[in-house]
Amino acid sequence: MQLALKNVTKTYPNGVKALDHIDLTIEPGMFGLLGPNGAGKSTLMRTIATLQKPDEGELHLGDINILKQKMELRKVLGYLPQQFGVYPKMSAEKLLHYFADLKGIGNKMEKKKIVDYALEVTNLTDVKDKHVAGYSGGMKQRFGIAQLLLNNPKLIIVDEPTAGLDPAERHRFLNVLREIGTNNIVILSTHIVDDVKELCNDMAILNGGKILSKMNPVNAVEDL
Ligand code: ADP
Ligand code: ADP
Repeated sequence: MQLALKNVTKTYPNGVKALDHIDLTIEPGMFGLLGPNGAGKSTLMRTIATLQKPDEGELHLGDINILKQKMELRKVLGYLPQQFGVYPKMSAEKLLHYFADLKGIGNKMEKKKIVDYALEVTNLTDVKDKHVAGYSGGMKQRFGIAQLLLNNPKLIIVDEPTAGLDPAERHRFLNVLREIGTNNIVILSTHIVDDVKELCNDMAILNGGKILSKMNPVNAVEDL
């Protein structure tokens, strides 16, 4: 499966051209979208996630025409927005069971299996009985990923996930992404060069709504 964007353009009502004829092809693996604040990263991520519409352009994920088949896209999408959620005083495990119920994963065995897997991959098994409201920023980010994994997504989008994390938490978080990036398309949107350098096998640089270059992260990072 491949994500293909063609000529994606968005101008906000205030005249800001946030996306300027974006052409981009993304293969399974870890893809880094690198760019400074205001580059258009969030606009692009929200557009791929069907949360906003471009003025022009086409987006396809495999057979799915994203602009015409919103629901099909959403079934295979895991999107972690920049500032993620408010959390109730409920343990991580209970909350994940609750979300699994909402998704209609009815079978008890299956539910336990997928919740245990999500906790395991995100390294939260040891703290599964603690309230998510009391988690650190990094633990909350990892919980956000655990929640996405209940859907078994094929396309995962994370927007500036390491902002504000201390080095140890940042490392743990990147390891979680590495784990889930092997079979899926994972797009990491960030202004932190090292996130991309450590993790991604492909990348693009976005600035002023334009793709400046699409290259191998190792070469790119030497040029920055
Ligand atoms: P990034 O995620 O890279 O920081 P954004 O996509 O949030 O970039 O923003 C790109 C540009 O569009 C910025 O100049 C921003 O101020 C502007 N922008 C973003 N959202 C809106 C909006 N809803 N209305 C008007 N301008 C916006
Ligand atoms: P990001 O860092 O992801 O670009 P921002 O903090 O810039 O996020 O934006 C947060 C929210 O404010 C978003 O919903 C964005 O669309 C909106 N926004 C950003 N810039 C503008 C702007 N110049 N005018 C109106 N809304 C904006």
